[in-house]
Amino acid sequence: MHCPQCQHDDTRVLDTRSQEAQAIKRRRQCAACGFRFSTLEKPIREDVSVEKRDGRIEEFDRQKIAASLQCALKKGYRQRDVVDALADQIVSKLLATKPQRLTSTQIGEEVMRCLKDFDALAYVRYLSVHRTFADLDEFRKRIGNEEKKHGDVV
Ligand SMILES: [Zn+2]
Repeated sequence: MHCPQCQHDDTRVLDTRSQEAQAIKRRRQCAACGFRFSTLEKPIREDVSVEKRDGRIEEFDRQKIAASLQCALKKGYRQRDVVDALADQIVSKLLATKPQRLTSTQIGEEVMRCLKDFDALAYVRYLSVHRTFADLDEFRKRIGNEEKKHGDVV
């Protein structure tokens, strides 16, 4: 691990902590300039690939799921914990059948299912960013029907 400050290639590990179930954080210090920094070690599942809508293949990345959740949830929640918990839930559902390849659509749908149960506003936000306008129209129709139903009850 090179020092981010001076690029020296010898750094000392000051301590190692298990941050969460799936990550290890190490505090390091550069042997040359004394700069202190931390590294986070996370396992990567190299056996799962993701096919994008345009046909490109990339590595399955939990971090991307977490980032889109973060974006959809905005600041309404105790961010990190909630995002982590939801991301874990989504990842374990997606990988439950031990697939070798997922599509970005499958991932998006699982994220939406999860958000829908968790927070309607975040769900709409996610939908408006990640889905096409055709899907949005369909969504508005469904919302409209729900409102009508409620109207009948009251
Ligand atoms: Zn250094």
